[in-house]
Amino acid sequence: MGVEVFYTTEDIDVRKCVEAAIVEILNLKIVDERDIALPDWLFDQRRKQYRAEEVLDYIATLRKYEKTYVFGVIDADGYVKGLNFVFGVAYPHMGAVVFLQRLKTQSKELFLLRTRKEVLHELGHVLGLEHCKQFGCVMNFSNSVFEVDMKRDAFCKKCASKLSEFGVVVNPRHVLI
Ligand SMILES: [Zn+2]
Ligand SMILES: [Zn+2]
Repeated sequence: MGVEVFYTTEDIDVRKCVEAAIVEILNLKIVDERDIALPDWLFDQRRKQYRAEEVLDYIATLRKYEKTYVFGVIDADGYVKGLNFVFGVAYPHMGAVVFLQRLKTQSKELFLLRTRKEVLHELGHVLGLEHCKQFGCVMNFSNSVFEVDMKRDAFCKKCASKLSEFGVVVNPRHVLI
C-alpha cells in the first residue's frame, strides 16, 4: 500500500519523522512526497484555523496515482465543525491530515514524538482502525496535548493484530507488550 505525502512545512526533522512513521513503523511505501501551499479559501480568517475536512478533500484532488492514500502534514491549526480544534482528521481507506501547531513545544524531541503519535493515529484510522481505550495505545482519542503525551507511539496488541488482518505489519518495536 502506498502513500502520497503533502507538506506545508520545510522542517526536515518533521519530514524524517513522518517518513519513518510511514515506512519503518507501518511498513507502507511512500510513492510521492511534495511541498504544497494551501489555497486561502481553506483558511477560516475569523478563527485563524484551517477547515480540516476541506483540507483533506483538497489534498485528495492533488493525488497523482490511483489507489494510494493521501497524507497531509500541515504546519498550522485545524478544526472541524463542533470542535475547537483537531490534531488531525482521517477518512478510512482514503487519507488523512495532521496539524502541527498544537503539537509544538520548546523541546523539539517532544514535538517530534507527538507528531509521530498523531501520524500513526491518523494512519491507523485510514487503515481501518477505530478509537481504542486500551491504556497507552496510540489509537486512544486525544482531546488535548496532555492526552497525546499520555499515550505511546505504539499500537496495543489488539489494534496491531487488526492491522495485520488488513495486511499491515507493524514494526514489533511499536506494539505494546
Ligand atoms: Zn482519532
Ligand atoms: Zn489499541
